Amino acid sequence: MKQILPIADGPAVRRYALTLLRRHPGALSLTIGLYAAAAVSGLFAPALLGNLVEEVRSGGSSWTVDKIALTIAAFLVVQTLLIRYARLASAKFGEQMLAELREEFIDHTLALPLSTVESAGSGDLLTRSSRDVEEMSEAVRYAVPATLVAAVTVVLTIGALALVSPILALPWLITVPLLYFSTRWYLKRATAGYLRENASYAEINDSLAETVDGARTVEALRLAASRKVRLDEAIGESWAAERYTLYLRCWWFPIVEFGYVLPVAATAFAGGLFYTNDLVTLGQATAAVLYVQQLINPLDELLSWLDRLQVGGVSLARLLGVAQVPADREASGRQPAGSELAARDVRYSYGTRDVLHGIDLDVRPGERLAMVGPSGAGKSTLGRLLAGIHGPRTGSVAVGEVPLIELPLDDLRGQVALVTQEHHVFLGTLHENVVLARPDATREQVRAALSAVDALTWADALPDGLDTLVGSGEHTLSPAEAQQLALARLVLADPHTLVLDEATSLLDPRAARHLERSLAAVLEGRTVIAIAHRLHTAHDADRVAVVEDGQIAELGSHAELVAAKGPYSALWSSWHGGK
Ligand code: ADP
Repeated sequence: MKQILPIADGPAVRRYALTLLRRHPGALSLTIGLYAAAAVSGLFAPALLGNLVEEVRSGGSSWTVDKIALTIAAFLVVQTLLIRYARLASAKFGEQMLAELREEFIDHTLALPLSTVESAGSGDLLTRSSRDVEEMSEAVRYAVPATLVAAVTVVLTIGALALVSPILALPWLITVPLLYFSTRWYLKRATAGYLRENASYAEINDSLAETVDGARTVEALRLAASRKVRLDEAIGESWAAERYTLYLRCWWFPIVEFGYVLPVAATAFAGGLFYTNDLVTLGQATAAVLYVQQLINPLDELLSWLDRLQVGGVSLARLLGVAQVPADREASGRQPAGSELAARDVRYSYGTRDVLHGIDLDVRPGERLAMVGPSGAGKSTLGRLLAGIHGPRTGSVAVGEVPLIELPLDDLRGQVALVTQEHHVFLGTLHENVVLARPDATREQVRAALSAVDALTWADALPDGLDTLVGSGEHTLSPAEAQQLALARLVLADPHTLVLDEATSLLDPRAARHLERSLAAVLEGRTVIAIAHRLHTAHDADRVAVVEDGQIAELGSHAELVAAKGPYSALWSSWHGGK
């Protein structure tokens, strides 16, 4: 997949995570406080059991034993209650953070430069807004609180251990290097390993879907064998990827399991040794072993959530990356003084090489200007620049003396718009779909816009008229209706200039005649720049611009250009002659 959008780096992700946490200091301290209190109430049991051992050994009464047992039970109940409220507080806090993160992501996505969205393609942005948001939510909902709880519990338990007997806290340390180095080894490789695994599943799916979709072609061209080889390769890659992560788990799991149990044995051994040398009491030794035993669960939680946390971090980095795309337009607050569109010495490049080389063009208000020329000459690129989708690399495209890239997007759409065949129907009512172009439009204006494009009849005939829910899963509009909806949006936005790319706005032939009328109604009274792929469009235009190799080679009316016997005249006679 093309990776155009940036990805935030580690420090940026950590900074953001910290500011997110710090934004709600109250909720954060409540959550941590409750978890800490719950962990502390869980720490009394081993110490009390230690006392119990001492009591029994020194021949204490059965009533003391009962008292200790009851106290332990009471602490358990308190811990349970505290955990309940801690969970509640952390769930609320997590959802709050998640909601803010999502809102910020949406804001940044909506603020993305059009040119970036276009060149990045929808794939990357879609993955980020679906899979990455999903991963991130999982991490915030489960991994973050779980690691937080586990970390708090581990720290407090070690504290209690040291409190009971500082020297008995030492044997536990034996496991630290074991857990630290093995986990570091695993985490360094795991993310890449699991990403590779996921990518390999995607490859199998793609390969299968392609074969099924193209079954006829596969049969006709006898591609079965090569398709099979391709699928076998994909399965082979998936096998290798799975084998690799299995290898990682086969080493890491046993080592950490051993790392949990080892200190229990070491503490018991040391406890026995210290006890016989009168360095600790039997109660202290018992409590210490129980504490070390009690460390196993939170440690395991901590380590096993680490890779989910890592995956969440990767997703967060991708979500934050969207905010790092530099803006391609900046509102200057200037208002256009007229409606003439003018390009001055415009150069543009998609990468390293310019595809437009110093274009000068004045579009007269109300005229029909056709752009013709060989494919790849730069007509579409120029069209997009004239519509303000991209800013020029150098030079300027201005309307009424104000560069298009200095206009806020809402204002830009009221000046000049690009008409394409993309006519997405958003989930919502028909009315909502039309007013997207101008949120403050009245009901009457919406009806007038639909009527202008001949769409009011069918719109009124819908089950709930303009309030009918349309879009995916709801009432489905036909392609022609969807196109009319897009045209109605244009009528509402009411730009004085339209850039029409014929290649992409070629209408559904069955509905063409009908839609041609709707389109004509939209074009009426506006300046139109038509990227012409059929020369009769040029013939009917007021002026024709011949674009060749990123430059305007000729400009004039059809009659003038034919008389000039230049490139246009050659194109015209070959087209006309060939008919
Ligand atoms: P036309 O509309 O006249 O066919 P275009 O404006 O589409 O020409 O293309 C002009 C040049 O820019 C061509 O060389 C084309 O390969 C290149 N080009 C167009 N779109 C892109 C893009 N998204 N990324 C990179 N190069 C592009």
